[in-house]
Amino acid sequence: MLIADDDAVTRAVVEAWLVGAGYEVIVAADGDAALALAIETEPDLVVLDVSMPGLDGLEVCRALQRATPVPPPVIFLTGHSATDALVTGLDAGAVDYIVKPLNRDVLIARVRAALRSHALRDDLINRAAHDALTGLLNRRELDARTGAAIAHARRYEHALSCAMVDVDHFKQVNDRYGHAAGDAVLREAAMRLRQTGRETDTIGRYGGEEFVVLLPETTVQDAMVAADRVRRAFGDAAFTASGVELHLTASIGIAAWVPSMSIPASLYSAADRALYQAKKRGRNRAELLDEHHRATN
Ligand code: GH3
Ligand code: MG
Ligand code: MG
Repeated sequence: MLIADDDAVTRAVVEAWLVGAGYEVIVAADGDAALALAIETEPDLVVLDVSMPGLDGLEVCRALQRATPVPPPVIFLTGHSATDALVTGLDAGAVDYIVKPLNRDVLIARVRAALRSHALRDDLINRAAHDALTGLLNRRELDARTGAAIAHARRYEHALSCAMVDVDHFKQVNDRYGHAAGDAVLREAAMRLRQTGRETDTIGRYGGEEFVVLLPETTVQDAMVAADRVRRAFGDAAFTASGVELHLTASIGIAAWVPSMSIPASLYSAADRALYQAKKRGRNRAELLDEHHRATN
């Protein structure tokens, strides 16, 4: 965590208390240094003195809310006990406000409380973006990432490919072995997708037993190579679900992003049409969207 106070004595005392309580601490002697350090080191909590030369604590706090997507919790330290100062501090985005003189146990308890609610928030943010069954990005987050990838591809004229992966005859798994076995297969499928993908790929659960892999900076030809790896990752080793070994395959549709595609749905729909071809041509294969299909888009 980061502590910023222009008073060297307060700084040293607070640092010693927090280090003594087992926290890792960095310190700043003014607001400008605090803001720069907070952006650079992404601390889990910031303890800010309100009055400092240069940027004061309130300004640092407001800047942090704007500059970071998930701002750290801020606790203000202040000499003022006036109610309006407290209101201003909390309105600037702080989670707590401690009036000097400081008490070690109170400070540590409030730090603990702030970290606790922050951890809860992180957990919620994380859950909001991921699918509970597979741990992959959920549809909402996938759409957001696809939108961002499209904007990036358009702006920098970079390639972007999309692969739609669908487990073949998956319904039979549910029908023969039960829904729990189906769920286990989906979890295993997600793991195989993660293992075959690159660090920069975005993998999401598009729906049911369909997954989307976004391949930035990748032409459709290279995406075909990636798709073949995915196809083999499904077909080459049996899945184990509810104690039975299941031999499953996947079909994959590949599409390249083109400038006429302005929303994620247009890219998905192109990949989906390629997937349809893969199903029609016998499954356990990857297909590129051919130009005819794109033209009739
Ligand atoms: P195809 O080869 O043409 O893709 O056939 P399929 O059986 O895989 O495709 P279909 O779309 O007919 O069936 C998909 C099934 O996936 C139907 C649905 O019940 C099942 N499903 C969707 N979501 C889940 C889930 O979260 N868990 C389980 N166990 N099954 C699911
Ligand atoms: Mg299927
Ligand atoms: Mg399907």
